[in-house]
Amino acid sequence: MTPGGVAIVKDLVLVGGGHAHVAVLRSFGMKPMPGVRLTLIARDIETPYSGMLPGFIAGHYRFAECHIDLGPLAAFAGARLYHDEAIGIDRAKRHVLCAGRPPVPYDVLSLDIGSRPRQHDVPGSAEHTTPVKPIDGFAERWAEIVARVTADNRPLRIGVIGGGAGGVELTLAIHHRLRALLRQAGQDPDRLTFVLVTAHELLPTHNQKVGRIFARVLAERGVEVHTKSPVRSVEAGTVIASKRIALDEILWVTQAGAAQWIRESGFDCDDGGFVKVHDTLQTVSDPAVFAAGDVAAVETHPRPKAGVFAVRQGPPLTDNLRRALAGQAPRPFTPQSKFLSLISTGDKYAVASRGGWAAEAGWLWTLKDWIDRRFMDKYSDLPVMRTAPVAAVPSAGVADAAALQELSTIAMRCGGCGAKVGSTVLSRVMSRLAVIQRDDVVIGLNAPDDAAIVRPVPGKALIHTVDYFRAFIDDPYVFGRIAANHSLGDVYAMGGEPQTALAIATVPYGIESKVEDDLFQMMSGALTVLNEAGAALVGGHTSEGAELALGFAVTGAIAENEALRKGGLMPGQALILTKPLGTGTLFAAAMRRQARGIWIDEALASMQVTAREAATCLRRFGATACTDVTGFGLLGHLVEMTKPSGVEAEIRLGALPLLAGAVDTVRAGIFSSLQPQNLRLRRAIRDGEALKDDPRYALLFDPQTAGGLLAGVPEAAAAECVAELRRLGYIAAAIIGRVLPSGDAAEPIRVVA
Ligand SMILES: Cc1cc2nc3c(=O)[nH]c(=O)nc-3n(C[C@H](O)[C@H](O)[C@H](O)COP(=O)(O)OP(=O)(O)OC[C@H]3O[C@@H](n4cnc5c(N)ncnc54)[C@H](O)[C@@H]3O)c2cc1C
Repeated sequence: MTPGGVAIVKDLVLVGGGHAHVAVLRSFGMKPMPGVRLTLIARDIETPYSGMLPGFIAGHYRFAECHIDLGPLAAFAGARLYHDEAIGIDRAKRHVLCAGRPPVPYDVLSLDIGSRPRQHDVPGSAEHTTPVKPIDGFAERWAEIVARVTADNRPLRIGVIGGGAGGVELTLAIHHRLRALLRQAGQDPDRLTFVLVTAHELLPTHNQKVGRIFARVLAERGVEVHTKSPVRSVEAGTVIASKRIALDEILWVTQAGAAQWIRESGFDCDDGGFVKVHDTLQTVSDPAVFAAGDVAAVETHPRPKAGVFAVRQGPPLTDNLRRALAGQAPRPFTPQSKFLSLISTGDKYAVASRGGWAAEAGWLWTLKDWIDRRFMDKYSDLPVMRTAPVAAVPSAGVADAAALQELSTIAMRCGGCGAKVGSTVLSRVMSRLAVIQRDDVVIGLNAPDDAAIVRPVPGKALIHTVDYFRAFIDDPYVFGRIAANHSLGDVYAMGGEPQTALAIATVPYGIESKVEDDLFQMMSGALTVLNEAGAALVGGHTSEGAELALGFAVTGAIAENEALRKGGLMPGQALILTKPLGTGTLFAAAMRRQARGIWIDEALASMQVTAREAATCLRRFGATACTDVTGFGLLGHLVEMTKPSGVEAEIRLGALPLLAGAVDTVRAGIFSSLQPQNLRLRRAIRDGEALKDDPRYALLFDPQTAGGLLAGVPEAAAAECVAELRRLGYIAAAIIGRVLPSGDAAEPIRVVA
C-alpha cells in the first residue's frame, strides 16, 4: 500500500540520495501521488550537502549541520529506504541491480548518484592518493588525514591535486583547519606546507578576476601553487607533474568521472561516461529513466559538475517524474546560463563570481552561510503533514487502464481462501527462490504436497517454535531477514540446530506484479537467513492483507538432556547479554520521524545478526541457562529465568549494551506501544525507585525484535566468554549483572547504577 492506503500501481525508484533527489522526496512528502510507491536506494544514509562541505572541513560546521538525514526524509516522503548500492540497470526487465539484495523493479527510474574521481588515466593515483569524490564518505577519509597529520611533530607536505573551485576551496579549508588544530595542540603550524597542483590556471571555469583573487589569497597563506602542471603519474610520496613534487598526503580533486556501471547498463554516455539526458532530464536512451546532478550530461545545456546545478534540477526533475508517472510528456528545463557562485577562503570570507563579475568580502561568507543553512533547514525541519485522505482507487492520471481494471477486482476479494495469494503468483515466486535441500526432508518444496514430511534427526528430540509479526519497516527484503532471524532465535536459545521452517506470510493487496515482487523480496531476504542456518523451507501459507507480515514455524533438533532451559541459572554466575537493547524505542521514534537514519540502520544491522555462534560460544563457556530477549524486554525475560531457577539477579545499568540513539529517544519520551505492558513487571524490582529516572532503567522494559541471548555463565569464565563473543562479531556483548542466591525479598531483581 502507498502512504494514503491506496494500492500500488506504479513504482518510482530513486537511485542515490543526491542534491536533486532530496527535492523529489520532499515534494512527494508534501504532495503524494496516489498509487505511486517511492523507493530510494541509497549507499549512504546521511548525504552531504556539498555547499557546506568546505566549511565542515574548515571546522565551521558540525557533521549533522551539513549532512541530510535520508531516514526521516524518506519517511516523510512515504518512501521505502533501501540502504544498498546500485551496481547496474537491467533496462529490458526494468530492474535496478543492487549489491546486497534481489533486483528492485521500477516503472520510472531516476539516477542522482553524483560522480567519482577520474583516476584511471593517471597511473598510481588510485593507489597513492586520497580521493575527495565521491563526496559521501569524505568525512571519514578526512578524519583519518587529521589523525595522521596530528599524530607526530614532523614537517609534512600536504598536496591537493586539482585547481577548480572544489580543489581551491578544499586547499584553503584544510590549511585553515589543520593549522588551527596544531595551534590548539601546542604544535608549530609552520611544520605543514600546503601545495596545490593543477593542469590549467586556477578556477578555469570562472572569470579571470576570480582566478587572480584566489592566486593572491593562496600566496598570502603561503600555499605553493603549481599551475599548468598536469599530473602524469603518482608514486608513493611523489606526484610527477611538470616536475617531481614530494608530498606526504595527496588529496585528489580533479575532474569528475562517472560510475562504470552506467555505461555498462547500455545508456548513451558522453566522453566522461556521464549519462546523456534531454533538457527534460529524461535519458536519451530510455524514456523510463531520468538522471540529474553530476551523473547527468544535459546535451543541450552542458554545465560544470557542481552541486548548485543538481539542486536547481530538483524541481524540474520532480515535475517531470510526476508527468512520466501520469503518462504525460515531460517538459523541457533551461538552466540559468549565468549564476552566482560563492567560494569560501577557509576563514569565513568568500569570493563571489557571476559571469565576468567578481567581489570578495567577509559578508559574502555570511550570505553564503545564510543561503546554505536555509537549504539545509528545508530538509531538517520537515513540516508535519496531515494524513493523506484514503482514496478508493488512484487518480486516472496515474494508473493505466489495465491496472485500474485489476484494482477494481481487488476491492471485490473476500477473506478466507479468497485472501490467499494466487497460485500462479506463489509458484512464480517459489520458482525464483533457491531453497536448500536436506536429506531428512522427504517431501518438501521440491515435490510440494498437502504437507511436508520430515524425518527426525536420529537420536535427537524435536524443537518446535513459532513467531509471526507485522512489518515495522518498509523494506521487505530486510524485514524478511529479520523475521527469519527472530524465529530461529528460540531454537538457538535452547541450544538446538534448526531443521525446517514453514512460512506464514501476508502481503498487502495490490496489482499482481507488485504483490509478487513484495513476496519475492521478503522471501528472498528470509531465505538468505534460513539457508545459512541450514533450515529447509518446506512449505507455508501466504495471504493478502492490510499490511506486510511474516512469521515462521521452525523445527530444530536437540539432544534432550542438552537443552539450555530458562530455569538453569545458578548463584555465582555472571549474566551475559549478546546484543544491545533499544529496538522498541528506536522504531517507535522512527515512526514519528524522530530517529536518525543511522540509528535505525545500526538497529537493523543488529537485528540481522544470527544468534547461532553466540549460542555455541555461551555453551562452550559453561552456560547453564539461556533465553532470547524479545517482546517482554530484558526484565521480562530475566524474570522468566529467575523464577524457575529459584534465584535472584542483579543488573548493572551502566553495563547494559545499548543501541545508538536509544537513550536519546527514551529521553524524548518515545516508547514502543508494548512498553506500558512490560512496565508492569517493575514490581519484580527491589528498590527501583531511586533509578527510575535514568533512561537506561526504561530500556530494561523495551521490547526487542531479534534481540540478543541472555545467559548465565560461571563468573570465572565470563570475561573470557565476552571477549570471545566480541571476536565472533557480537561487538556489544557484555556482562550485565550477576545471579544471586534466593533471599527473603519478594522482588527477585536488584538494579544498580
Ligand atoms: C571539496 C568539494 C567541495 C565542493 N564544493 C562545492 C560547492 O561549494 N558548491 C557546489 O555547487 N559544488 C561543490 N562541489 C561539487 C559537488 O560536490 C557535486 O557537484 C555535487 O555533490 C553533485 O551532486 P549530486 O546530487 O550529483 O551527487 P552527490 O551529492 O554526490 O550525491 C550522490 C548520492 O548518491 C549516492 N550514491 C552514489 N552511488 C550510488 C549507488 N551506486 N547506489 C546508491 N547510491 C549511490 C551517494 O551516497 C550520495 O549520497 C564540491 C566538491 C568537492 C569535492
